[in-house]
Amino acid sequence: PRFLMARGVEKVYPNGTLALQRLNLDIARGEIVSLLGPSGCGKSTLLKMFATLERPTAGQVRWNGKAEMAAECRMAMVFQEATLMPWATVEENVRLPLTLRGVSKKASAPQVMQALLAVGLENFLHAMPRELSGGMQMRVSLARALVTEPDLLLMDEPFGALDEFTRHKLDSDIRRLWAKRGLTVVFVTHSIYEAVYLSSRVIVMGARPGRVVADIVIDGPQARD
Ligand code: ADP
Ligand code: ADP
Repeated sequence: PRFLMARGVEKVYPNGTLALQRLNLDIARGEIVSLLGPSGCGKSTLLKMFATLERPTAGQVRWNGKAEMAAECRMAMVFQEATLMPWATVEENVRLPLTLRGVSKKASAPQVMQALLAVGLENFLHAMPRELSGGMQMRVSLARALVTEPDLLLMDEPFGALDEFTRHKLDSDIRRLWAKRGLTVVFVTHSIYEAVYLSSRVIVMGARPGRVVADIVIDGPQARD
């Protein structure tokens, strides 16, 4: 079975808003999928379905063929703004998911360092979030997602708030990260440039809400290994 699967998925919010309708989608392990489309077309809702933050009102979402995400599947989500704890250092922020899993400070140190190296912030361990630029804060958020070594990384417009220069710098680092075998990424973007440059597959959703209007494979997951 596919890593992620949506079959006839419909989402009607309690206030009656139709966000997704009869949506079918298969995503294989290792694919880097971008979601494009006008505001309100259901991109965030679809991401939340895959994150199990929302349930479909009809149809099915499946993870590895199962109706629930397996406990051993590691999922991380990155939001539009860097959601860091302002009173904690970069190191403490990145360590948080491991702390929540009961991993000691000492045992988590190598993983925290590796995640910070991956985003080029290994020299900012003891910095406070307010001392960092927006782009750097976004990188910390990404490091915090990567520290758990996720199988599935879901990102809702993670680069939207960045200026063009920072975004380009981040883009090249992110391309390197994606090369990691087995990581599946689904991210929402408003930038066609990002969609084409960063993903292996571009999915465009339509203004008539909740429908996929285009599904373009740029290069297959195998091609990136
Ligand atoms: P975007 O994905 O376009 O950046 P959001 O996901 O924040 O924006 O919101 C998309 C739309 O969904 C907005 O029009 C917003 O008003 C609406 N929306 C988001 N959350 C709620 C909610 N809890 N109740 C009602 N409408 C909501
Ligand atoms: P996008 O991410 O593409 O902007 P969303 O998935 O946020 O789209 O929203 C899809 C539709 O669902 C929009 O019409 C939005 O207003 C609505 N919506 C989103 N979240 C909620 C919510 N919690 N309650 C009611 N309506 C919502």
